[in-house]
Amino acid sequence: MRISNDKILAALPALEVERRRDVSLSGLTSLGIGGTTDLLLIRRHESIAGLLKLLDEHGVPHKFLGGGSNLLVMDGALPFVVLQLVKGDPEIVLEGNMATVDAAADLGHTVTYCAKHNLGGMEGLIGVPGTVGGALRMNAGAYGTQIGSFVREVKVYRAAERKIEILSGGQISFEYRHTSFAPDDMMLSVKLELPSKPYSEILQGIRICNEKRRSSQPLGQKSAGCIFKNPPGGSAGRMIDELGLKGFSHGDARVSERHANFFVNAGKASAADMLALIAEVRERVQKAYGVTLENEVVVWNA
Ligand SMILES: Cc1cc2nc3c(=O)[nH]c(=O)nc-3n(C[C@H](O)[C@H](O)[C@H](O)COP(=O)(O)OP(=O)(O)OC[C@H]3O[C@@H](n4cnc5c(N)ncnc54)[C@H](O)[C@@H]3O)c2cc1C
Repeated sequence: MRISNDKILAALPALEVERRRDVSLSGLTSLGIGGTTDLLLIRRHESIAGLLKLLDEHGVPHKFLGGGSNLLVMDGALPFVVLQLVKGDPEIVLEGNMATVDAAADLGHTVTYCAKHNLGGMEGLIGVPGTVGGALRMNAGAYGTQIGSFVREVKVYRAAERKIEILSGGQISFEYRHTSFAPDDMMLSVKLELPSKPYSEILQGIRICNEKRRSSQPLGQKSAGCIFKNPPGGSAGRMIDELGLKGFSHGDARVSERHANFFVNAGKASAADMLALIAEVRERVQKAYGVTLENEVVVWNA
């Protein structure tokens, strides 16, 4: 969607919001799929209320983009604009065992930065691409670790109240790839409490997790990580694998040969290809196991 309203365009400089026109989401998502729209880069948290009020008043739908590593975006001209936070400076502030991290900070960088200051616990999250904001929204986790376990406070823009609030960790529930944030809450920063550990010990944990990932995931290919959530007590990847669907494809959208719950864009896959592949695999798993797999990937189709 291209913003053409003069009132919105005139207000952007004062809000320190940069508008990039006709940006292709295929270049901003790890799947390499997605149509075009205007991208609004937000430099000041204080601008968000004003910006969203303007967009709402003029009927401009919007979505929040983090690092684009868990997204499947529809093709063509997108019927919404995309908002993205620009990293604050500094992006991470340490005080004792507390790390205050900007939502736009890279998660991997956060893990290694804290490690270098002898703050551990998040070793399992190394290799999860994307931002800290995206990780909070998804309650990203791996190898027995989830980001929610370390959250003591979140600074969040609550669209319903049109204001920034600080929520304590106890006010938020973090479940498997699900959080109690409202769909239109925007995470701005987080305070994480991390256990003290010697850097060498953390580094060893990081190396082990990196190796596990390298040996089991198609890291050189375009993907959004796991497409489906694991059903309670089960493994989506194992079921897809048992059905012999590794390598199964729709156009250039393909079930990875390496990890059956990773679907890759093996060339010029469209969103329609990927959605068709997801639907077909879901149906086959449903028929064979009576289990309806739920998407882990977030689909932006309207
Ligand atoms: C190779 C690979 C491996 C992966 N491995 C894992 C894994 O082990 N564990 C795991 O949990 N995930 C994994 N993922 C998925 C993905 O990296 C995580 O879900 C990640 O936390 C998403 O962060 P992001 O910033 O890229 O979010 P995006 O993909 O940009 O967005 C995801 C959702 O979060 C919302 N969002 C983003 N930022 C904000 C914000 N500031 N405020 C409010 N909402 C926001 C978006 O609107 C969207 O709904 C993997 C992905 C890839 C490509």
